[in-house]
Amino acid sequence: MRPVDPPAAMKPHRLTLRTRLALSFAGAGLLVVALLLVGHRVVREAALQQEEALTAQVRPLARINRLQSQISRIRVLEVELPRLTDLFAVANQLELLEAERRAFDRELSEFTGELREQQPAAAAVLDERWRRYQAELEGLRRHVKAMDLAAAQRLATFESAERFKAVSHTLKQLAEGTESQAAAALAQARGQQGRQLVLFLAMSAFGLVALALWTGLLARSVSGRISRLRDAAARVAEGQGEQPVPVSGNDELADLGLAFNTMQAKVAAREKALRAAHDELDARVAQRTQELHSANEQLLREIDERRRAEQRLAHQAQYDSLTDLPNRMLAMDRLSQAMLAAQRGGHHVVLIFLDLDDFKKVNDTLGHPAGDALLVQAAARLRHAVRAGDTVARHGGDEFLVILGGLTAPEDAEVIAEKILRAFAPPFSVGENEVVVSPSLGLAVYPDDGDEGSLLLRNADLAMYDAKDSGRNTFRYFNQQVHDSSVQRLAIEHSLRSAASRDEFELVYQPLVAAAGGQVVGAEALLRWRSAEHGYVLPDHFISVAEHTGLIVDIGDWVLRTACEQLRAWHDAGWSGLHMAVNVSPRQFRGDRLLRSVRECLAVHRFAPGGLQVEVTEGLLIRNQPEVHDMLAALSGLGVRLAMDDFGTGYSSLSYLKRFPFDAIKIDRGFVRDVASDPDDRALVIAAIRMGKGLGLSVVAEGVETEQQRAFLAEQGCDVLQGFLFGAPLPADAFAQRWLGSTVRTAPLSARTPA
Ligand code: C2E
Ligand code: MG
Ligand code: MG
Repeated sequence: MRPVDPPAAMKPHRLTLRTRLALSFAGAGLLVVALLLVGHRVVREAALQQEEALTAQVRPLARINRLQSQISRIRVLEVELPRLTDLFAVANQLELLEAERRAFDRELSEFTGELREQQPAAAAVLDERWRRYQAELEGLRRHVKAMDLAAAQRLATFESAERFKAVSHTLKQLAEGTESQAAAALAQARGQQGRQLVLFLAMSAFGLVALALWTGLLARSVSGRISRLRDAAARVAEGQGEQPVPVSGNDELADLGLAFNTMQAKVAAREKALRAAHDELDARVAQRTQELHSANEQLLREIDERRRAEQRLAHQAQYDSLTDLPNRMLAMDRLSQAMLAAQRGGHHVVLIFLDLDDFKKVNDTLGHPAGDALLVQAAARLRHAVRAGDTVARHGGDEFLVILGGLTAPEDAEVIAEKILRAFAPPFSVGENEVVVSPSLGLAVYPDDGDEGSLLLRNADLAMYDAKDSGRNTFRYFNQQVHDSSVQRLAIEHSLRSAASRDEFELVYQPLVAAAGGQVVGAEALLRWRSAEHGYVLPDHFISVAEHTGLIVDIGDWVLRTACEQLRAWHDAGWSGLHMAVNVSPRQFRGDRLLRSVRECLAVHRFAPGGLQVEVTEGLLIRNQPEVHDMLAALSGLGVRLAMDDFGTGYSSLSYLKRFPFDAIKIDRGFVRDVASDPDDRALVIAAIRMGKGLGLSVVAEGVETEQQRAFLAEQGCDVLQGFLFGAPLPADAFAQRWLGSTVRTAPLSARTPA
């Protein structure tokens, strides 16, 4: 790029644009002035020439004409003179003639004087001929004066005529010569004028062309450079200006070009710097964007993961993981909302507390995975049984809650409850097994049974217990009686906790009689609770509470030890063949305490292990857990007899009997009761006896109250009978007195009931 030149003013040869323009205008002005002057001169000279030519020719011509007319007048006077008759007239005429002649002579001498310079011959001729004519005139005048008119007339008519004609002819010839000369001079002047005009026009054209060329060149130089600057400026504006503008000349435009180049160079440098800065910025922005992008993605992943974790947590916090039903907490929340809505709309809300009957047996028998599968299916059945807007929730274990909102009357819930019962009628497929599990439903109504969720829940729970008490697979509304019995139940639970420490338990013994001979072969120890608050309480009213609270473990241990001690006493009294049946709760199968106690009893009391018969209900077997099997095997290994109690009420299964080392089955008194009247029961009892016998087991029948029953059972091959027909359970003393005679000492019962 061309560096900025020093200021143009410093340059000696600087010709500025302004100067050039001024020169252009001055040149144009000068040209115009010159042209005008030259033109004017040409025109004037031409005019002068013409005028000169004209003047030079016309003046002599006019003089010739004047001379012609003068001499014509002389001739007329001459010719008329002889004809005059009056002397006065002749004298007058002669005077006139003389005056004319003198005038003509004077005129002619002037004329010939001038003519002599140019045409001396012609002037001489004219002078000569005029002299001759004068001579004639003189003659005439003499004749007239002499009054020789005839001679005068003859002279005038004939002789002077020739002289006159000679003069006139010469004048005529001169006039003609002058005319042609004048025409030639005029033509020459015109030719001269034309030439000068052509010269003028040529000069003008040349001047104008030169001016036009100069102006054009100037304009071209200016506009070309301005265009280049404009294009360069446009390129700079478009950001393409890189090449410097070619700078020519030494004027303002050159300055402008230099300044422009400098500016462009600076702009380019700045632009370059800017572009570099911009590129760097771009790179930084791109890098930062990338960083932000990855940070954002990372953040999104973390927000996302956290959200999922939160959702998971929230879901876990509110939903049951097994059935995916709302859990108790969410159910209580929904219950509150339903109650609020019902309060506004004047409706009822019914809370159903549902518990699966004997679900424990499924868990115990088929294992927990099977129990879980059943719970999932039960949840699905429940959901299908209710409307979409109703809430089905898992309360825990085998307990479910159903919230029915917007009911106009509490009775409307009956339809739903029945629908739920029907939904549970078909067996559940759990693995390879088909299991029938019925539900017990307790219904509590808002606002009648409570205006708080927890209260409604408790009351629905109590109503559910009532349904259980009422035979299960049914529903019950909460009512005052339910309330009272629950209060009673709670009271029992409360008292039961201190019953042991207050020594309120005691055992009664019921005889087991040989079906064949009728002799007492054993006794079943049955627990009684002589409660300070509740009086004499039978097992059906407190065993379940004791099992529920876990108190049964200590109580059962006490029962075992007491019964074994009693058996020792009776053996010691001489009835060594007697065996003792002790009921053991499934809860006692957890841990090894039962086994340890049995060992201790056997060790301490040293009776034959077969003297002790442990009775377990079918429910225990259903548990099907290794510990149950191990415990039964261990007990059997000790030589203790094992009896399956209440046979027929649970999941009586042949496989159980084969799998576990049982020695006896006890047919439930429910079958025995109607054995005489109900063919089905009879068939069942017969089948049970046959089966037991077939497996080599001792078969015991419970609840024998009539002779008819006894006879039938004995006939069917039952081994042992138990029932009021033989005797109700009695305290040890009474039992001994009644069955063993007064000689038999009862156990001191010194052993305290468990703490
Ligand atoms: P269980 O083991 O089947 O005992 C027989 C039950 O039948 C006893 O009721 C007995 O009084 C009753 N019974 C006997 N003969 C007849 C009869 O001819 N007709 C009628 N209707 N009933 C008869 P109890 O003593 O009320 O015991 C009920 C249940 O309580 C027992 O049934 C047993 O399962 C449980 N139980 C009793 N004592 C204990 C105990 O110490 N531990 C455990 N875990 N459970 C016990
Ligand atoms: Mg029993
Ligand atoms: Mg029984």
